[in-house]
Amino acid sequence: MIHRRTDYRPPAFVIDQVALDVQIAEQTLVTARLSMRRAAASGTGRARDTGLRLDARALQVVSVAIDDQPLPAGAWTLDDHALHIAEVPDQFTLTTVTRLQPEANTALEGFYQSGPMYCTQCEAHGFSRITPYLDRPDVLSRFTVRLQADAARFPVLLANGNCIERGALAGGQHYARWEDPYAKPCYLFAMVAGDLAKVADTFRAADGRDIALEFFVDHGNENRVAHAMASLKDAMRWDEQRFGLVYDLDVYMIVAARAFNMGAMENKGLNIFNAAYVLATPDTATDESFEAISAVIAHEYFHNYTGNRVTCRDWFQLSLKEGLTVFRDQRFSEDHLGGAVQRIEQVRMLRAAQFPEDAGPTAHPVRPDAYQEVNNFYTATIYEKGAEIVRMLHTVIGAEAFRDGLRRYLAEQNGKAATIEDFVGALSAAAGTDLSPFLAWYAQAGTPQLRLTRAWDAASRRLIIRFTQHTAPTPGQPEKQALPLPIRLRLRNGRGQVVPLPAHADALGDELIVMRGDALTLEMDTDEPLLPSVLLGFSAPVKLLADYTLDELQRIAAYESDPFVRWDTLQSLHARAHAGLMEGDRSALDALIAALQRIAAEPVDDAMLTAHLLSLPGTAWLWDQYPEVHPQRFLDAYAQLGRAIAEALCGPLSVWAPKAPTLRGQAGERALSNVALGYLARLGSASVQRMADDRVVSDNMTLAIGALRALGHHTDAAVPAEALRRFAQRWHDDALVMDRWFALRAGGAHVQAADLPALIDHPQFDWRNPNRVRAVLGSFAREALQGFHTEAGYRAYADGIARLDALNPQTAARLLKPLLGFKRLAEPWASQQKQVVIRLRAQVQSTDTRELLDAALNEGSSSATP
Ligand SMILES: [Zn+2]
Repeated sequence: MIHRRTDYRPPAFVIDQVALDVQIAEQTLVTARLSMRRAAASGTGRARDTGLRLDARALQVVSVAIDDQPLPAGAWTLDDHALHIAEVPDQFTLTTVTRLQPEANTALEGFYQSGPMYCTQCEAHGFSRITPYLDRPDVLSRFTVRLQADAARFPVLLANGNCIERGALAGGQHYARWEDPYAKPCYLFAMVAGDLAKVADTFRAADGRDIALEFFVDHGNENRVAHAMASLKDAMRWDEQRFGLVYDLDVYMIVAARAFNMGAMENKGLNIFNAAYVLATPDTATDESFEAISAVIAHEYFHNYTGNRVTCRDWFQLSLKEGLTVFRDQRFSEDHLGGAVQRIEQVRMLRAAQFPEDAGPTAHPVRPDAYQEVNNFYTATIYEKGAEIVRMLHTVIGAEAFRDGLRRYLAEQNGKAATIEDFVGALSAAAGTDLSPFLAWYAQAGTPQLRLTRAWDAASRRLIIRFTQHTAPTPGQPEKQALPLPIRLRLRNGRGQVVPLPAHADALGDELIVMRGDALTLEMDTDEPLLPSVLLGFSAPVKLLADYTLDELQRIAAYESDPFVRWDTLQSLHARAHAGLMEGDRSALDALIAALQRIAAEPVDDAMLTAHLLSLPGTAWLWDQYPEVHPQRFLDAYAQLGRAIAEALCGPLSVWAPKAPTLRGQAGERALSNVALGYLARLGSASVQRMADDRVVSDNMTLAIGALRALGHHTDAAVPAEALRRFAQRWHDDALVMDRWFALRAGGAHVQAADLPALIDHPQFDWRNPNRVRAVLGSFAREALQGFHTEAGYRAYADGIARLDALNPQTAARLLKPLLGFKRLAEPWASQQKQVVIRLRAQVQSTDTRELLDAALNEGSSSATP
């Protein structure tokens, strides 16, 4: 079934109160009492429907009563999707009893077992897998929950809001009653039952209240919560200081789950997290993990306002809460970890995940028009591109107006389900500027290409700088319009000095111009041909096609003070060098090496920034530079590129590689050491191998993982295999570290399809644990490109997806992307991958995977709307 945004109708019923009674036992029973009334607006016009339809996904409903009168059989019917009641009054209390089997729930939606505990995941439609309900985000109700279970097996019983009562019962049972004072949509519902350790602290809020902060983790993991706790306090303080937003309950709880489909979930007052985004100590987690934990903790906390207090009218508006909240967590990370490096990492991620999505068969607008399975729309487009749109709005109106606009939006929409127009309208009102042209960014799929051309006439001393924009067609959207683009730029003369921009009607400040149509021209008189640096700070999420010469790129890389543009210029040189190597032309490689040598010769001021500037680009972004890829030639050129840089920079790399400090604050030095080690390992020297070997069992996980990655480049496959064996020997009891081991095993440079069965049959592999499945399948497709891009690789991967789809369609669908790009592969890979996709389409059963496979197979045909 296809859901369309234009089909939106307000709900026919209001649910004022929800009282849930959940008895966890051999047969888990959920009794729901819903205080319902017909919505005022319903029933006008056409003859009114007297019945009631509630979402009920694969539920076993035992009984139904209205105003405590049990309904006879025949008065209600149940199918796989809904509970229908033929006739209901205008106002009534509906009571349903439903039987659940959390142990058998492998989809990890609704109420399910994760290790020794039971927990929930209700976004987007998990709640109707627990009890019949109007499972849509615009139905907001106040919830009370009573949980009852065996006190020894489930000593911890949690739900949203505040605990108002708990006590012991006969037969070793106990109960807890929770009340959430804020009306909420059911996707924010959560409950947890388990034997968990609690780590508690308090936060003194700006209004003077002490908020209890409570983390619940598996016993034995109590000492791995400190970083997450500190991050939570930082996030709470930041939202108070930046936006004046103060936490609104007495307790904020986070539960770490072993088995979780996503990163984390912002359920009101009771966040449930993938354990990978909670637990960290320097010996078990990398510096990147520490950063990711801070960002995810902040993200879910910030949702308490942007998402929970103001929610989405329908799931088409998902980016209203996600794009905005990603932007908020990005700004938080920039303030805490440094804006320059954070911005580079954000853009790297956007280009690796979102740009390819926007150019592929599943391209969709940030606000989609239609979907079959909403779970398929938790994408980089909704999240990261959505955040870039919010960032552009922030850039155009400034930080102060943005703060006022956000507060205005939250005040106007408090306790409501809003739309993207509501948000953009509030920002417009606060800024006194009409931002509605930016709504086109939400409607149009595809990454705009911004072309920069220059003309300088020496005789007339006239410089003309011209920008044009173009967006290629995407499935279902053949025609594209020009989008408003904030372009931050500066001009430099031959000595590297900044020259003011010429006056322009759409200029905002000294370095910012908003492009409002297909083209924008700047003209000025100048004695020399000035060199523009454009998209400072990546001011718009576009692909820049500039007419720079290799010499000009070297000059920008050398002189530009904007760290993003400097990094981006090196990326362009990498891309040109790689393309040249595929054609046997080394001129761009020489220019790149000259630029890198210059950076390597500078004193290291910010080691993390230097590490980023010197890093090889990721293969995902590089891959996306080509309309069609020949995998073998691509990978050969990539390996050549890495070796050439290693040889040319051998001197400084050999100085940085041994410097491997272990203090928390020295992440930059570690990153630089790992980059250096990674290059040097490509040269195969014995001393480098010894250095890496020593680090494999380091007490610092960043160094250990860096060493394992470096050894992966060794020409002899036995070297990384032996290093990984030693690593596993040390960490075999630690689930999160073993996820890393599985990822390195499956993603190594020597891995072939024939290596996968041994990993899947490994005693510690578990199809029911998404982290582990992602570690093996995801790493194979993303990292082991030489093994994946073979007929056997595609087949082995598709076999894994088919098997996973039967258990967990949501995670299976998310892992599909690497199989959907066959239109851009050279032969014979294109035909081989397409055949595997056709075969897989015949095997899978879920709407999740079928929707994406159909999009790939139908790309280019007229009915290709995803
Ligand atoms: Zn979110």
